[in-house]
Amino acid sequence: MKKLLSNLPKVDEFLISEKLEAYKDSVPYNILIKSIREGISFYREEILSRKFADMEIGKEDLKLEITNKIIKLIESKNQLNLKRVINATGTIIHTNLGRSKLMESSVKNIVNIASNYNNLEYDIPTGKRGSRYSHIEKLICDITGAEGALVVNNNAAAVLLVLDTLTKDSEVIVSRGELVEIGGSFRIPAIMEYSGSKLIEVGTTNRTHKKDYLEAITPETKALLKVHTSNYKIMGFTKEVKNEELSKLARDKKLISIEDLGSGVLIDFAKYGYKKEPTVQESLRSGIDVVTFSGDKLLGGPQAGIIVGKRQYIEKMKRNNLLRTLRVSKLTIAALEVTLREYLDEAEAIKKIPTLKMILEGKDEVEKRAHILYGKLKPLETLEVDLVETNAMIGGGSMPTELMDSFGVALSYKGHSIVKLERTLRNNSLSIVGRIQGGKLVFDCKTLNENDMDSIYEILSKGIDKI
Ligand SMILES: *Cc1c(COP(=O)(O)O)cnc(C)c1O
Repeated sequence: MKKLLSNLPKVDEFLISEKLEAYKDSVPYNILIKSIREGISFYREEILSRKFADMEIGKEDLKLEITNKIIKLIESKNQLNLKRVINATGTIIHTNLGRSKLMESSVKNIVNIASNYNNLEYDIPTGKRGSRYSHIEKLICDITGAEGALVVNNNAAAVLLVLDTLTKDSEVIVSRGELVEIGGSFRIPAIMEYSGSKLIEVGTTNRTHKKDYLEAITPETKALLKVHTSNYKIMGFTKEVKNEELSKLARDKKLISIEDLGSGVLIDFAKYGYKKEPTVQESLRSGIDVVTFSGDKLLGGPQAGIIVGKRQYIEKMKRNNLLRTLRVSKLTIAALEVTLREYLDEAEAIKKIPTLKMILEGKDEVEKRAHILYGKLKPLETLEVDLVETNAMIGGGSMPTELMDSFGVALSYKGHSIVKLERTLRNNSLSIVGRIQGGKLVFDCKTLNENDMDSIYEILSKGIDKI
């Protein structure tokens, strides 16, 4: 043991080690030193606990082992907290995994805007101060047919700004069937309270009639609010008041009609054989005064909340001081402008915006990808691999009852529990998130691109013990 201990290399020896050379420039010095110290002391403990007592291990081999340990430590310490993961869940708009992926040209524009100065709040023709909200207002109006538009941080903020601006200290009527909670603690009643508006619930969970709204209107009433029940569906004996009827009632009674559309689709999914999701354009055409929706759900852009509607209301929101606390960043505007521009030509939008592309691609496309992944993984000896049919989901609270036919691979690892396999791959430096189903780990190819599949192959081909 004494000999082994005296064979432990010193910190300096690792600092000049060739195998660690690559990390010297790319990793902060303190991470490098810390990893070396930890690596050495890990092996000192191992030796002291006699794990190596009977082992013949030469000085060079010991050094090599410690170096490998140090490399692992460096790689784990050097990781960013927010990092890429591989989404093999088959849920396209996965809120926990960052919702929509941005299209490539949006990302390029973020890089260009972020690494240079820009005209965020500068009006170039006059050389005077401009407004950050001006850059995409016209584009949104052109696409949706709205008179005015405003973009804030997310849809929750959009709803808050609308209520704070338009219905503070007054009553807002909402159907009991629409008092939704969205994951991550967005609750309509709570937002209503923050905004200082008084929630008046009408109807029942499954049925709300026009007369329920009508009877609840008092001189204190300011608005009728519709909320899209994004993440759940009430089925069976149901009744809701259609937008046309609701907006007409609001107009007749000199009230404002508001709709929180949640996902905010800009194209008609029914055209492509999907269940009808109400579009932003339809909501506006039905006479609703103000509509809010998310930027990173079905729209497929960056996190944002978009408010569209009557000019007078949008202008009033622009003057609300609360807007300053909800304002979007230049990065969001940079990404959103490029994404929205695609919607001027729908055929382009469904080809280029990843969220739309994944939803609308044919079954054979995902089957092709599953075959590619299967072909890559099949030769790996320690794995059992099957090609399987799966059900993918849109997610993000959109069309909760719609499942998409999809394909994937089901894995098990000879001699290992499936729970351990799942945990190991999830905790890999490039995390792979799949689902355990029927005693197998399933990677759904709906949400995987070729790059992801290459990475999965690379990780698995190392063998689970080395991961
Ligand atoms: C998702 C959703 C929200 C919240 O939108 P964020 O962009 O996540 O803030 C609000 N209302 C409805 C109906 C939703 O579906």
